[in-house]
Amino acid sequence: MPCATKIVATLGPASSNPEVLERLLRAGVDVVRLNFSHGSAEDHIERAQRVRDAAARVGKPVALMADLQGPKIRVGRFAEGSVTLAEGAAFVLDAARGTPGDLQGVGLDYADLPRDVRPGDRLLLNDGLIVLEVQAVQGDQVHTRVVVGGVLSDNKGINKQGGGLTAPALTAKDMEDIRTAMAFQADYVAVSFPKSATDMEMARQLANVAGERWRHKPGLIAKIERSEAIPQLEAILKASDGIMVARGDLAVEVGNAAVPALQKRMIRMARDMDRITITATQMMESMINAPTPTRAEVSDVANAVLDGTDAVMLSAETAVGRFPVETVEQMALIALEAERAEDVRLEADFSGKRFGRIDQTIAMGALFTAHHLGCKAIIALTDSGSTALWMSRHDIHVPIYGVTPRLASQRRMALYRNVRPMLMDAHTQRTPALHEAERLLVAQGALMPGDTYAITCGEPMGHPGGTNLLQVCRVG
Ligand code: PGA
Ligand code: MN
Repeated sequence: MPCATKIVATLGPASSNPEVLERLLRAGVDVVRLNFSHGSAEDHIERAQRVRDAAARVGKPVALMADLQGPKIRVGRFAEGSVTLAEGAAFVLDAARGTPGDLQGVGLDYADLPRDVRPGDRLLLNDGLIVLEVQAVQGDQVHTRVVVGGVLSDNKGINKQGGGLTAPALTAKDMEDIRTAMAFQADYVAVSFPKSATDMEMARQLANVAGERWRHKPGLIAKIERSEAIPQLEAILKASDGIMVARGDLAVEVGNAAVPALQKRMIRMARDMDRITITATQMMESMINAPTPTRAEVSDVANAVLDGTDAVMLSAETAVGRFPVETVEQMALIALEAERAEDVRLEADFSGKRFGRIDQTIAMGALFTAHHLGCKAIIALTDSGSTALWMSRHDIHVPIYGVTPRLASQRRMALYRNVRPMLMDAHTQRTPALHEAERLLVAQGALMPGDTYAITCGEPMGHPGGTNLLQVCRVG
């Protein structure tokens, strides 16, 4: 049995080869992330096709996540490619500078930086490895003093400690990239650096309009990586289908030490609001170069699983690492072991909560029933996948099979924790639909004669949100 937690892997040179891709999917990858910071529109379309082909060969539903670049705020280039900044030295960031950088200063690709900073602010460059303190702002120039020095090379990113950069979340490139992503019907679109619900609403509108030709509506993931996003979390969650705990940039803005508690809070809030979570960045970082993870990494992955994340994500590990397949294998083992140790606390989850919708109470009823009867499986016959989503917001050691006639729903469910998406013909009559679903699970080895399972569906069939029946069956 694969782990209930889903694995997101970033595609890159180390994983683009069809055989490697196939092995990654077999090792446990459920979602492939296409990083729109690298490559052209044609590259992305070609990569997406490669993933879909590999998924078809493996016979597994795999979701594609288009991760938009967002407003990367960067320094310009240096005459020598890099400089080594010494502690205490003066360094000028100059939005108007026309010449390559040197030891005295460098250009900027973000012209508004001088307007966004004040003397005393701290700027973190190169993922926080270099720290500059703003001394003065003069026109287009930000005069700084080096607090923590080191090597600064071409086009490194800039963050402001505590947040406060005004760059909009969706750049012109992102808008174009959304159209590209809809051309291959990306199942999820991840928005980088959103500050508010409005950023997410805008991305959704653009995606829905671009996807209309194919009647495609992707899931929207907000990458939480800005200080400003934290107080807006509830509104952002409402406007999104899920969030990514984007620990790389987030840690630079709020400080490393604040991230673990924030991760727990984000996951808890998302689950309470029926939203999904992806925990990302440096989960298995050492495996970029080593065949085994560190104990700290093992703990990190296991803790994200115990926090209740839907998915754990790999970035450079699968994009450019030396051991992409081994990394996924190890991650799956860690997740499986952590899941075994997790408590089922359905009663506690339900107490104090009110479920007002018929479909939602049926979903909760199925969980309760399966848990108490010790069912082998829960089957949700679902159009949109929402019944399976509600069920998957609670820890239960019974696999949930999301059975749908819609390919887009099947792929979308690939990100839901403990949900195994399956495709089935559309039915108009209940009895043949229930029989076919059972046959499907028996054929897959998920059910055996004598096994008990709980199944939900809606009557009349084929109406999204129409789930109103729960049945307990025994395989004959
Ligand atoms: P990135 O996002 O890898 O696109 O920067 C993830 C993060 O910041 O953690
Ligand atoms: Mn980021």
